[in-house]
Amino acid sequence: MSLLKPHYRFNCILDISAEDIKKAGAKFVLLDTDNTLALHGSQEPIEGLYEWIAEMRKNGIEPIILSNNSRQRIEPFAKKLGMPYVYKSAKPLPKGFRLACKKLGAKPEETAVIGDQIFTDVLGGNIFGSKVFMTEPIGPETDPFIKFKRKIEKYFR
Ligand SMILES: [Mg+2]
Repeated sequence: MSLLKPHYRFNCILDISAEDIKKAGAKFVLLDTDNTLALHGSQEPIEGLYEWIAEMRKNGIEPIILSNNSRQRIEPFAKKLGMPYVYKSAKPLPKGFRLACKKLGAKPEETAVIGDQIFTDVLGGNIFGSKVFMTEPIGPETDPFIKFKRKIEKYFR
């Protein structure tokens, strides 16, 4: 069951410091979006996210969005934040992680993934060889399929 366990747990992405990422041995952060950077489907980033991204970059850590959501949802959001992005990433499969690494010029072992879901972010990150930072979902889930997954996830948390 270790593939379902994160390396680190935080309440919110804003609680993760550049130092935490560096200590984990990572130089690149792959960011889930829904319920990690914004409410599900929302184009409004959580308060403090711009500052968080700037702080990462100041410390030589490059962020990229890695989301299973659609192009229509992710592209405008990523552009607003000035970040590269991968949409429909098919987490937990490695293909989206690989594409993100290609865009960044990163190796798997130099990456950290930050996200709120066990069966996409945590499992995918572990399979790929990223350091996995799991956060609590920032808002209530509206998608019925994800709601169902959350119920199952409770047994693994
Ligand atoms: Mg999420």
